[in-house]
This record gives sequence, structure tokens and C-alpha cells, in this order.
Amino acid sequence: MRLLIPILFSLPLASALSGVIRDANAVNNQVFDYVIVGGGLGGFAVAGRLSEDPGVTVLVIEAGGDTRQDPVVSDSTQYPNVYGRDDLWWKWRTTDGKEMMGGKMLGGSTGINGMTYTRGQKEQYDALAQLLGGDSNGGRWTWDGMFAAMKKAESFSPPNDEQRAKGANYNPDYHGYSGPVQVTFPSKMYGQQMKAFHDVCATNFSIPHSDDPAGGSAAVVGFVPNVSDHQLVQKTDCRQSTGGSGTAARPP
Ligand SMILES: Cc1cc2nc3c(=O)[nH]c(=O)nc-3n(C[C@H](O)[C@H](O)[C@H](O)COP(=O)(O)OP(=O)(O)OC[C@H]3O[C@@H](n4cnc5c(N)ncnc54)[C@H](O)[C@@H]3O)c2cc1C
Repeated sequence: MRLLIPILFSLPLASALSGVIRDANAVNNQVFDYVIVGGGLGGFAVAGRLSEDPGVTVLVIEAGGDTRQDPVVSDSTQYPNVYGRDDLWWKWRTTDGKEMMGGKMLGGSTGINGMTYTRGQKEQYDALAQLLGGDSNGGRWTWDGMFAAMKKAESFSPPNDEQRAKGANYNPDYHGYSGPVQVTFPSKMYGQQMKAFHDVCATNFSIPHSDDPAGGSAAVVGFVPNVSDHQLVQKTDCRQSTGGSGTAARPP
């Protein structure tokens, strides 16, 4: 198993180790406040938040490779090619002999996912909060708590005139504008086809239209943006958005 060890924010004692290292021996006899196994979305989100405190040391252990310079991963126009790259995937065997796929690299499944930026139904978050003990966590897991957190994480770019003409729209209250996760509509949106699909869903199947499904009403038909930067080509995965570059740099 290949082992990548990004270290976020090290104390002076371990400062020589800041960054991504490939030799596990380099962390022998080092002490970290937190060790996180898995450098994917969850791992880097937690590591990024913990390392906001410069007095804290965090070690992230990742089994996959460092694909930050790999265009098949970072350039969304090359997305179909990720399926031909066995080195980027976990293929877990299920009990019925099938394969379950997951991203195996620094960035985890965010390195190979479809980049679609969606949110769930309000009631689902509230039900989850109930399951976790109601408001005992200060309401953090309710829709209201999660909505605030999702907006804090987001840096949304509104659709331009061309994207609007093709159907994209948004509600300014549903988005954040200064978080680390870049969210926008793709420059190469389909035109009439997407509108036609939308209209069939709305008319033939009576699915309600939404100008912006990001506000807690997910059982609708509407246009959703991508997790992508403002140039609309460079994919944003959790390595950029959580400071997971493995260096001491914080997200913008
Ligand atoms: C093909 C595909 C398409 C998707 N499309 C979308 C989409 O369009 N929109 C969307 O919102 N979501 C999408 N997702 C889902 C989204 O990417 C995941 O929900 C999210 O990445 C899960 O985060 P995670 O931290 O749980 O796991 P991951 O991001 O997968 O991270 C887990 C990390 O742990 C590492 N790891 C595992 N075992 C070990 C070990 N023993 N030692 C060290 N490291 C280990 C893995 O290599 C990986 O890097 C998609 C997922 C896939 C697979």
C-alpha cells in the first residue's frame, strides 16, 4: 500500500515535516495531536478545521497517490478518462460479487466525482438531528445549522447571461460567497436539450420547478451548479477547498 502523509500545520518541533511526504519512516517518533486516516473529503475537512489553530499538529494518512498534477483528475474536460485509470480507484468487493467504487488518492472520491453541487431536503436534515439527540448539539445538525455551515463553506459565482439563457438561475439567500469551496455553473452548458428535459419533468411528471434547489427543497426539477472554480475548467476538490494541499497554506 502506497502511503502519503500530508501534515497540516506542524509545531516547530516537527516543522521539517510540513507538507506531503511519501516515506512513512519520516514520521517515526513524531508526536501529533491528531492523526486522521484517509485524506478525502471528511478527513481533509476535519484536518483543515483542526489546523486553523496554529498550535495544533495534524497528521493525515492517505493510502492513494498524490494526483495534484494529474490533468485527468484536475481538468474536468478529461473526466471520462478517470474510468480507465485503475490506480485512482478503490474497488471494494460486495458480498454479491459486485464492485463498489471510491476514489483512492489525495482528495479521495472528490478527485473522481461528478462535481455536482446539491443539497438534501430540509426535513431529512431535521430528521437526522432528531436521531442525534434533537437540539442537544445546539441545533448544528438541523437544516438551519447545516444550511449555515454549507453557506459558510461556499464561494458561489452567479450564472452569467449565457448560462441564464440556458436555464440557470439562483436565489442569493441560498448561497455563501466567501468560503473555500468554489461553486458555479459550467461554461459548456447544454442549451435546448437541458431545457427540454426540464420541461418534460415539470409537465409530464408534474415535478415542481425550482429556480434554485439549494434552499432545502430537493424534490424539484431545476439546474444545479458544479463544484468548479471561476474559470470553469479546473475542478475543485477537497484538496484545494480544505487546505489539503499538504502545506501550511490556509484556504483563501
Ligand atoms: C464516481 C463518484 C461520483 C460522485 N459524484 C458526486 C457528485 O457529483 N456530487 C457529490 O456531491 N458527490 C459525489 N460523489 C460522492 C462524494 O465524492 C463522496 O460522498 C465524498 O467524497 C465522501 O467523502 P469521504 O470523506 O467519506 O470519503 P472519500 O472522499 O472517498 O475519502 C476517503 C479517503 O480515505 C482513503 N482511505 C481509505 N482507506 C484507507 C486506509 N486504510 N488508509 C489510508 N487511507 C485510506 C481513501 O483513499 C480516500 O482518499 C461521488 C462519488 C463517486 C465515487
